[in-house]
Amino acid sequence: MEKLKGIGAVAGTVIGNIKRVSTDLTGYYAGYMQETPEQEKAKLLTALEQADEQLSRMIETAAARGNTEQTAILEAHRTMLADPALKEAVLQKLNEGEGAPQAMLAVAEQYAAMLSSLDDLYLRERAADVLDVGRRVARILFKAETGNDGEQTMILCAKDIEPSLLAEPGSAAVQGLILGYGSTTSHAVIIAKAKGLATVVGVNDLSQLIDGIEVILDGEKGEILIAPSPEVRSFYLEKSKGEQKLLAVQMAQAGEPAVTLDGVRIQLAANIGVPEDMKRALEFGCEGVGLYRTEFLFMGKKLPPGEDEQTELYRQVVQQCKQELCIIRTMDIGGDKPLDYLNIGEEDNPFLGWRAIRISLERPDLFLTQLKAILRAGIYGKAAIMLPMIISADEIRRAKVFVAQAASELEREGKAFSRDVPLGIMVETPAAAVLAPVLARECDFFSIGTNDLVQYTLAVDRGNARVSQLYSHYHPSVLRLIDGVIRAAHNSGIWAGVCGEMAGDPGAAVLLAAMGIDELSMSAASIPKVKEQIRRIDMRSAAKLLQQVFELNDAEEIKKAVQKAVDMQATSTQA
Ligand code: PEP
Ligand code: MG
Repeated sequence: MEKLKGIGAVAGTVIGNIKRVSTDLTGYYAGYMQETPEQEKAKLLTALEQADEQLSRMIETAAARGNTEQTAILEAHRTMLADPALKEAVLQKLNEGEGAPQAMLAVAEQYAAMLSSLDDLYLRERAADVLDVGRRVARILFKAETGNDGEQTMILCAKDIEPSLLAEPGSAAVQGLILGYGSTTSHAVIIAKAKGLATVVGVNDLSQLIDGIEVILDGEKGEILIAPSPEVRSFYLEKSKGEQKLLAVQMAQAGEPAVTLDGVRIQLAANIGVPEDMKRALEFGCEGVGLYRTEFLFMGKKLPPGEDEQTELYRQVVQQCKQELCIIRTMDIGGDKPLDYLNIGEEDNPFLGWRAIRISLERPDLFLTQLKAILRAGIYGKAAIMLPMIISADEIRRAKVFVAQAASELEREGKAFSRDVPLGIMVETPAAAVLAPVLARECDFFSIGTNDLVQYTLAVDRGNARVSQLYSHYHPSVLRLIDGVIRAAHNSGIWAGVCGEMAGDPGAAVLLAAMGIDELSMSAASIPKVKEQIRRIDMRSAAKLLQQVFELNDAEEIKKAVQKAVDMQATSTQA
């Protein structure tokens, strides 16, 4: 049995047959029956109509499920499909004697090459969209497989995949995804997450994953076991069944609070990107929103949303949080989330460049609009402002001047707003973590952004599969920083939470509880399992484990020690 290693992007165990999906359709060229230019034109027009029908069906399904990101991606594809210039360019090629699918692919590739050459991450994503649309039409013309047929459990495998293929309806058999591409934040992974497909990305060598071969996919560990023995297979089959049962049990108690055996309550909030995410977050038992990533509201648009529009987008969430806090993070644009209308330009190190609060402080027009919208939404419940990528007290002070200006402008304009909107910061840079005692005097709460804190502390790119084995929130340097941040917060009388991926790791939750964390904010799907873990914690054992962990010097060793303690506790609870 062979084992392949990648990055776990969506947790879950799946046993299924590999279905290779290639974005390379050249294999279909030889079998295509090309006819006269007039007949090719007719075929093209029919295929365009069929593609449009496919997309509108998929949009309907995605919208009905409240899948906003998926809907937006598909809507963009539909707009591209209707682009008269694109159609004209393909028809031109048909007049020159090319076959319809080949012409469609060639034009899509030309468009994509043009967009990619602009070397802007946002536009590169659009290039992928044009190729996606082109391949959809070509697949129809070639009568090619989409990977969504069949009855057996399937695990799609591709170097890269068109996001819209994943969004196809009627794909219940598809339960897993393996990608060669390394990013855990690509459109394809966003859709896989929304559909609950266990996913492993960054698998460098896909050559052994041939069509039809049975594999076991472990989306948590990021592992793929090829052609497993009957014993290994039955072990994972039981594991997969166990996961389903466990989720059912956890969901039954998702609405209850997370309180340790000795009565310490930890707030469990949700990370969301758009108001529609609240539906799932509430179902999974969130207690407010610990991180509203507002940058998604600014992306995929020609202009930033205005004050009224933002007020409405925040109001919807604040109101659904009822009496719980809704922490709205001011836009964290830059890094891996560029925005073309901001003209960030090409940067050698975008993660170290003009990003987040650095942009906001230099663009009062954008910052004031956003702050005014948050203050206005505050009257519908309990809103809070959170500043990303802080490295100094001066940045917080300058931001507070903008908050005061936003309030006085609203007053002058006679608009209703809340004066009771706490202001906190993301502690996601080593600078902020080290300076926590100073920064705590300037704000009302800390939320530790472990995704970036790990990346910056360890100097390990969070999206690079090549170095992913070095990226760990169990690294002793990261744990020490977090411990210091929580202590600094409490010494100054403010609360501290975690809103990076670490918050959704039940093992890490035990360490964080022992450090005195007040709140954990995570993606909706993780809430039930972390709640369950917290209910098993007794603080004395957790403190002992933390002490033991602080004597270890290796991330892997620490992770194992935590896992062992958590497993032992789970067994004793079940006994
Ligand atoms: C983080 O850095 O941990 C975080 C929550 O922010 P983002 O993932 O949006 O950078
Ligand atoms: Mg961050």
